[in-house]
Amino acid sequence: MDLPRLMEGGVTCQMMAICNADSPASVALRRPERAASLPRMRKGDSLLGLSSALDCIELVFREIAKNPDKLTLATKAEDVRKAKEEGKVALMMSIESRLPSGATLDTLRILYRLGLRCVALSGYENRKSDTIGGPLDPFAFDLIDEMEKLGMLVDVSHLLEEGFWQVAKAVKGPFIDTHGNAYSLCPHPRNLKDDQLKALAEAGGVIGVMSYKPFIDAQAPSLSRMLDHIDYIVGLIGIDHVGLGMDFDGMGGAKKNAVLNDVTEMPLITEGLLERGYSKKEVKKILGENYMRVFDAVLR
Ligand SMILES: [Zn+2]
Repeated sequence: MDLPRLMEGGVTCQMMAICNADSPASVALRRPERAASLPRMRKGDSLLGLSSALDCIELVFREIAKNPDKLTLATKAEDVRKAKEEGKVALMMSIESRLPSGATLDTLRILYRLGLRCVALSGYENRKSDTIGGPLDPFAFDLIDEMEKLGMLVDVSHLLEEGFWQVAKAVKGPFIDTHGNAYSLCPHPRNLKDDQLKALAEAGGVIGVMSYKPFIDAQAPSLSRMLDHIDYIVGLIGIDHVGLGMDFDGMGGAKKNAVLNDVTEMPLITEGLLERGYSKKEVKKILGENYMRVFDAVLR
């Protein structure tokens, strides 16, 4: 994924995952250019996660400054609408693995001031593998309360069942799953079971159906099979709760691991949905309007 390809793919709003990895190995993997400064840091050094996150935030600002006619920062729904009008790509910053280790609610408030608007509550401690899910610790509940006060999106992706239900009970407004699919079609522990999907819809949330092959079909993943997940979820909880969460750069290379080669092929999803009989209005909901409803309700 890069800017020319995002624009070619017709993307208006892209969630930028702010990396807060707190081990030198994972920083080196995600940010190879930082590897040179790593020997000064050790695993468990609480500064490492935070400095990684700040580096990524700075990178987002730098890219926006370099491309002011093409990129803009999004912290609320209005920013995304304005980007659409102006033909720009809006970047919204999100943290996937909770906050950097050692973070406090003040850290959250500072990251919010810097533009962070979405936090996935899965910490590294409870995502050692995609089949291990730990319960949330007490700080996660404080985070949820503060995020709701500030106007931030709560993301349940990477949480396994126990954590999902804790979040579903704790969050008062809509919450989202930025990248996951339907467990009934592909029983991977990262996918949501029917009762989870219903709870997400009842809260007014959205699930971003993703393009990662192992979450689509263990035997024969394909774009058509990905659209089956959309059909299934729409059939179960309605058209208002499905979006897209492709995760092109989050799976070790889209070409190998996704059912689309890259972001430029996003229009194939639109074509596939129209072929399956979705109206233009319904397709627009899936492509972004459902997320926009949640942005309107939550973001400030
Ligand atoms: Zn992820």
